[in-house]
Amino acid sequence: MINNIVKILEKNLCDHCLGRPFSQLFLGYKNEERGEFIRTFTAMMIDGKLVDYSKINPNNFYGFKFRQNKGFAKNLKKEKCWLCNNLFDKFGSLAKKAERKLKKIEFNNFLVGSKISPEILSKEEKIWEVTGIEFVESIKAEINRELGKKLGFLLKKPVNFKNPEIVVLSDFKKNIVEIQINSLYVFGYYKKLKRGIPQCKWGTPKKYKTSVQEIAAKPIIKATKGTNNKFSGSGREDIDARCLDWRPFVIEVLKPQKRSINLKKIQKQINKSKKVNVRGLKFCEKYIVKKIKAETGDKTYRVIVKFNKPIEKKDLKKLKSLVGIINQRTPVRVAHRRADKIRKRNVKSIKYKQKNRKTIELRVEASSGLYIKELVTGDGGRTQPSVSEILNVKATPKDLDVIKIELPKGLLF
Ligand SMILES: [Zn+2]
Repeated sequence: MINNIVKILEKNLCDHCLGRPFSQLFLGYKNEERGEFIRTFTAMMIDGKLVDYSKINPNNFYGFKFRQNKGFAKNLKKEKCWLCNNLFDKFGSLAKKAERKLKKIEFNNFLVGSKISPEILSKEEKIWEVTGIEFVESIKAEINRELGKKLGFLLKKPVNFKNPEIVVLSDFKKNIVEIQINSLYVFGYYKKLKRGIPQCKWGTPKKYKTSVQEIAAKPIIKATKGTNNKFSGSGREDIDARCLDWRPFVIEVLKPQKRSINLKKIQKQINKSKKVNVRGLKFCEKYIVKKIKAETGDKTYRVIVKFNKPIEKKDLKKLKSLVGIINQRTPVRVAHRRADKIRKRNVKSIKYKQKNRKTIELRVEASSGLYIKELVTGDGGRTQPSVSEILNVKATPKDLDVIKIELPKGLLF
């Protein structure tokens, strides 16, 4: 180890960079302190002429008073660290810059990240070639940890490694910090009480006046002062269909300036719309978005079906044969945005009520993803079997509603 130390001291190194290759030795010390021990011990070895110091950069020992080896310590100069160019001295000013930038933002925890120049990283690797990597720590890890400690003290907030609300990105070369505000996620359940409303805002210019997304997100954005939002639902109903059971959703608020918002109050504001109702609003983590999108519980639909000619009540019994596997090729109306292929969906139960000889109310319990309108029309033979095919009529769906959404217990939280 002393030979390795003598070798790396051919370059002028600060205490941080001298201690860091031996970071895994001793508990409870900073690399800076390790560097200090090593330097002091090495100075004693040099003073006693107990090591070959011929190639050592003497400026590493600026400020030391040698007693035996006075020749070594002549004309020592204060020199910047070869590896890091004394970047650790900039911590105070960078932490202050970060504190200033964060003044108007509300957050509970943070994490520090840093941009390190490739030049520094390659110099660090040169040091490791001498010392080996058994006990090393990277400069990035040291910076992030130590700057995190310093900022935590200034801000009086904890560091959070897993889900930080704020990331402070330090750039030592430019001597600046960038603040990244991580999204806030609000989970809830919605019902859509009116037809003609899409789930998400879409089209430029907007094709529909409003959407579930816009109605639910508006008060959330206002309270959090976020810049934008993303809406994810656990499946979605057609624009002209109502959703009369609670459907899980998550709204991701981008760049929120406030996080401690009153969700009960927001829920009331949303429900004033009379178009969309929400309940169970709560904050959640990012992974919930994937979880609700992957959710494939059964759904039950209610739809009014009109026939182009009268059907006898006894013939309606044939509808029961729809229970089972339905082969559904991508419907014509969605072919522009979904891959053209045949999907197998399962109808679990069929119930019907005759309204008059040309109208029935149909209830279909099916696996997630079945297109109900096409189950009725047959979509020109692309959905098989279908109501039209089985009854040998032209069947048209009206007033489609989602009336039940199955959610496995405990799946979402
Ligand atoms: Zn250094």
